[in-house]
Amino acid sequence: MRTTCPYCGVGCGVIAARDDAGRWTAKGDPDHPANLGRLCSKGSALGETLGLDDRLLAPRVNGQETGWDSALSLVAQRFTDAIAAHGPDSVAFYVSGQLLTEDYYVANKLMKGFIGSANIDTNSRLCMASSVAGHKRAFGSDTVPGLYTDLEEADLVVLTGSNLAWCHPVLFQRLAAAKAARPGLRVVTIDPRRTATTELGDLHLALKPGSDVALFNGLLAHLHEVGAIDAGFVGAHVSGFDAALDAARNDPPATTGLSEADLAAFYALWARTEKVVTVYSQGVNQSSSGSDKVNAILNCHLATGRIGKPGMGPFSVTGQPNAMGGREVGGLANMLACHLDIENAEHRAAVRDFWDAPTIATQPGLKAVDMFRAVADGRIKALWIIHTNPAVSMPEADAVRDAIAGCDFVVVSDITARNDTARLADVLLPASAWGEKDGTVTNSERCISRQRAFLPARGQARPDWAILAEIGRRMGFVRAFDYETPAEIFREYAALSGIAGKLGRDFDISALSDLSDAEYEALSPVRWPVTAARTGGRFFGDGRFFTPDGRARMLPLRSRAPAQVPDAEHPFVLNTGRVRDHWHTMTRTALSPRLSAHLAEPFLELHPEDALALGLKSAELAEVTTTRGRAVLRVMVTDRVRKGEVFAPMHWTGETASHGRIDALVPAITDPVSGQPESKAAPCAIAPL
Ligand code: SF4
Repeated sequence: MRTTCPYCGVGCGVIAARDDAGRWTAKGDPDHPANLGRLCSKGSALGETLGLDDRLLAPRVNGQETGWDSALSLVAQRFTDAIAAHGPDSVAFYVSGQLLTEDYYVANKLMKGFIGSANIDTNSRLCMASSVAGHKRAFGSDTVPGLYTDLEEADLVVLTGSNLAWCHPVLFQRLAAAKAARPGLRVVTIDPRRTATTELGDLHLALKPGSDVALFNGLLAHLHEVGAIDAGFVGAHVSGFDAALDAARNDPPATTGLSEADLAAFYALWARTEKVVTVYSQGVNQSSSGSDKVNAILNCHLATGRIGKPGMGPFSVTGQPNAMGGREVGGLANMLACHLDIENAEHRAAVRDFWDAPTIATQPGLKAVDMFRAVADGRIKALWIIHTNPAVSMPEADAVRDAIAGCDFVVVSDITARNDTARLADVLLPASAWGEKDGTVTNSERCISRQRAFLPARGQARPDWAILAEIGRRMGFVRAFDYETPAEIFREYAALSGIAGKLGRDFDISALSDLSDAEYEALSPVRWPVTAARTGGRFFGDGRFFTPDGRARMLPLRSRAPAQVPDAEHPFVLNTGRVRDHWHTMTRTALSPRLSAHLAEPFLELHPEDALALGLKSAELAEVTTTRGRAVLRVMVTDRVRKGEVFAPMHWTGETASHGRIDALVPAITDPVSGQPESKAAPCAIAPL
């Protein structure tokens, strides 16, 4: 069966098949444009993760198994009661980039069009909200301009804030293969740490955490100095150049901590190489100035016209399998479906009329961090968490866990009852897992692919779209949620995108709105847009953007240090991130012995000089303390981290911080534009245990 990997945003095609012993195996789909037959360690171990040991197979209310009817009636009643007593903003959904597009669409429709609040946000807020904000500020739309082939066609690929080798391994494999075949392809890596990714680079810039804006402002000033600005493109298609350049010139790159020689080498290479792609990810996004970092990168591509052409452009790679689909259906609290804007009255009216909805949210809802603060202070009376584990993955995870525990009514839909958030639920709803559910996902290059079921439904588990639609019906919205198949939902969504297209938005897949069920089942991977006039391709090569005047906007930017900087009490900087073989809070990857063997426990990377000063050796235990919490981690002495900086992975969980539940230590400080938390620069203290 052809399907799609449920892990990262590369979105690889998978062929699931039984081997001679009857076990399920996963192989790369040679016909899928994302991976062309490749799979990474996580994707190839998918067959090992399909067991039922940890599965939630029946609804539970207050820990007791019950039938669907009573569980769903209770959920619908408690949400209805909360709305009647306290208004629509007293309820919230916190959803996930693991949801399929059809699930996401129904959740968003229910909250924004029928409950009448925009209090639906997604864990993608922690991943790429700064990219969304940067895109919208520069392009007028959340558009990824390029394609994966651009990385292979470029003469220079800059990887900034991206451990591509571990976090998007197949895309990294494609880049490595392109470089091996064409050694003239230069790779520059920008990351405070040395990683598996930096090993591929011709130049590694180990910049100071948080100094990305200064680095790219310096690049913009250099591009102007050496005459590398594309004055024709800027004159015809870009606004704000002079102000952006002026700000860049006043923001010297000295704060990056890089040598003049390294800066000069990077700037000269970027300036003289026309075909340049700048790939960025969580190292850029997860910052209190993440949106500005994104725009600093976009400024350089806009100033040189290096965007939307083969081998050229900025490229945001998303973390999750359907973070892009979530952005497209309006899964973020500040967006409507199909890239329509919640603040735009014409857009709101179009969506409300299309849905024949009784109402429509008129202002952005609570973003993730603010949502859990509202849960903590009692403003949210009923909360539905779907396929995500915020008691582990949110910053200030202890406070989030306590907030959920204290909420009047909490529903959790998941495939397991054994995670930290599910344990706090009043109602647990068993959801279908990968291999059992049907729908679509969108990957980082705008490619829509089918996830297909190849396993029977397990226990009483149901698809998320079906659970959400049933709640919608039980809340009184019978006709609007009368769905019987994901194909029906997809057709409705594609039809709405046609209206968005007519309103001048980028996301338009209206040519898919009349797919038959059989055509939906057989749908091959396709990059949007998909309209009568056009399928796939790049955006912006023609200089047309989605702003009111059609011109891209360069922004004047000034670098800012991370919101908290080290002091005498907390002299180190804690950086957090992923490891190669685990995914998020390990609900699925921990089921594979092979994946768990790569790195068996949480750890702390510590520079040798710091280890010496602290009297710590590799494999000893250290206590890490921030203003928010503490963890005990096994020390890994390595010069992969800079002196004064440490790194710990984000995946592990447990009852206490001493199990390495690292997000309990991360302050919930957010970018004021995107609402994305700063997860890579928490001042901390370290002491031997
Ligand atoms: Fe899955 Fe990402 Fe690995 Fe591809 S690169 S197999 S999408 S985890």
